Amino acid sequence: MTDCVFCKIVARDIPATVVYEDEDILAFEDQNPQTPVHTLIIPKQHYSSISDDIPPELLGKLFSKVKEVAKIKGVEESGYRVIVNKGKDGRQTVFHLHVHILGGIKLPIFVGPAD
Ligand code: AMP
Ligand code: ZN
Repeated sequence: MTDCVFCKIVARDIPATVVYEDEDILAFEDQNPQTPVHTLIIPKQHYSSISDDIPPELLGKLFSKVKEVAKIKGVEESGYRVIVNKGKDGRQTVFHLHVHILGGIKLPIFVGPAD
């Protein structure tokens, strides 16, 4: 996808701070961190959201990297939150499937009120 910002990161056409990479998966720092640790994990292949027709093996691999990336970021023991936003009400803004890892503070229990 030529107009996808995360595909451009995969292709190294735009910079990112990469924290993990293998043949299928890339993890990099969110450019607008909401918490001290805010890292994104993506499949290198383009899928627009969690409800695309994604091979289960790839989905499994994507989520199996959560623990690994959390260890790299030093939050595996303290804990963290895993978020996948989908669509308008989910406030997805980048339409290349990605998993957020948020941590480094004790997170609030509830999401904030809708605006
Ligand atoms: P979402 O609302 O789930 O679609 O989240 C998209 C996330 O991607 C946001 O947290 C953005 O800050 C982040 N983001 C957008 N562009 C970039 C970029 N070029 N490098 C790193 N993170 C980005
Ligand atoms: Zn993409």
